[in-house]
Amino acid sequence: SSGPASNGSTPPRPNQTKIKAKPRIERNRCLVTGGAGFVGSHLCTYLVERGDHVICLDNLFTGSKQNIAHLLHYDNFEVIRHDVVNPILLEVDQIFHLACPASPIHYKYNPIKTLKTSFLGTMNMLGLAKRTRARFLLTSTSEVYGDPLEHPQTESYWGNVNPIGERSCYDEGKRVAETLAFDYQREHGIEVRVVRIFNTYGPRMALDDGRVVSNFLAQALEGHPLTIYGEGKQTRSFQYVSDLIKGLVTVMDGPETGPFNVGNPTEFTMIELAQLVKEVANPDAEIIFQENTADDPAKRKPDISKIKNTLGWEPKVALRDGLLLMIDDFKERLKHERPVKAL
Ligand code: NAD
Ligand code: UDP
Repeated sequence: SSGPASNGSTPPRPNQTKIKAKPRIERNRCLVTGGAGFVGSHLCTYLVERGDHVICLDNLFTGSKQNIAHLLHYDNFEVIRHDVVNPILLEVDQIFHLACPASPIHYKYNPIKTLKTSFLGTMNMLGLAKRTRARFLLTSTSEVYGDPLEHPQTESYWGNVNPIGERSCYDEGKRVAETLAFDYQREHGIEVRVVRIFNTYGPRMALDDGRVVSNFLAQALEGHPLTIYGEGKQTRSFQYVSDLIKGLVTVMDGPETGPFNVGNPTEFTMIELAQLVKEVANPDAEIIFQENTADDPAKRKPDISKIKNTLGWEPKVALRDGLLLMIDDFKERLKHERPVKAL
């Protein structure tokens, strides 16, 4: 069976009988919004294999059916195509609310829709939590810290966000989603959990989503130059997806609201990242420098003492190991999703 970090790219066999879930005395009904996306598909896999009943809800904007194809034959997994901007009636015990485009090119593509997804989508899912008394977890982001003036970032830092820039639809959208979650908890007694996710990578990242790890790895494997934006001295801290999934489940099942930073505190410049990707994927790849985008945060690194001390979670996978774990998935998908053009 495929673990939460496996690439899951095997298509389901036709006529396959439904797989019975592990027996569980009280099966937990989990809703995963954005479940067909990169993180969501790994979370669905983890929960299905744990024996929960999983409803994956997605409008397939940036997610894909391929990401969850390996789960379709489980009898404790179902999919609903739905946009969270509209309310929905379901019976659930836990809501993992992930639905939102996450990469800069996708959230900037239709910024007003991104804002509606963050505000109306989160409000609708909190409304569902209120009616069902389900526990609700919001996947917020390190972007709530903006271009941070405190380094590393602790959860008590309020951030340095431009409210009117090109990234604001995402950053401010997530900030208001956090506000909504805390207000539903204060006003309606909903059990809320908030996780601030730092840059995460792994198998099933969309090849074309423009994020730095997927760009560099696809470029290296295809023999194209790796594109560093700006001087490449900006930093990020990269977390492998299986560490994130364990973090999300730990916070959901734990006793505290948070917010909790969930990320890997080892910090890299984009030049260091490019060199590491070259080393593991294609030592002959070139590196080129291009103009950077607006409002690009200069540095980012989580302080994870809060979750480590209260819930005992910390990341396990080093960047080099994580990159090696995603190479096969990328090679396979580059073959199928980007067929070589006829000359
Ligand atoms: P993703 O784009 O792969 O997944 C998002 C999913 O949400 C997609 O399947 C998409 O189709 C779906 N979606 C978008 N708008 C929707 C809508 N209106 N209704 C229903 N479904 C909708 O991104 P991801 O990396 O898997 O991110 C998942 C969550 O984690 C997001 O909330 C994101 O903000 C958060 N996050 C991710 C990272 C990261 O590095 N991957 C970092 C910080 C926060
Ligand atoms: N970046 C880069 N080359 C790329 C894509 C991104 O140098 O091909 C840089 C980008 O300018 C930013 C960092 O990598 O400084 C992380 O970008 P990403 O979009 O992955 O995540 P975010 O900016 O949301 O942290």
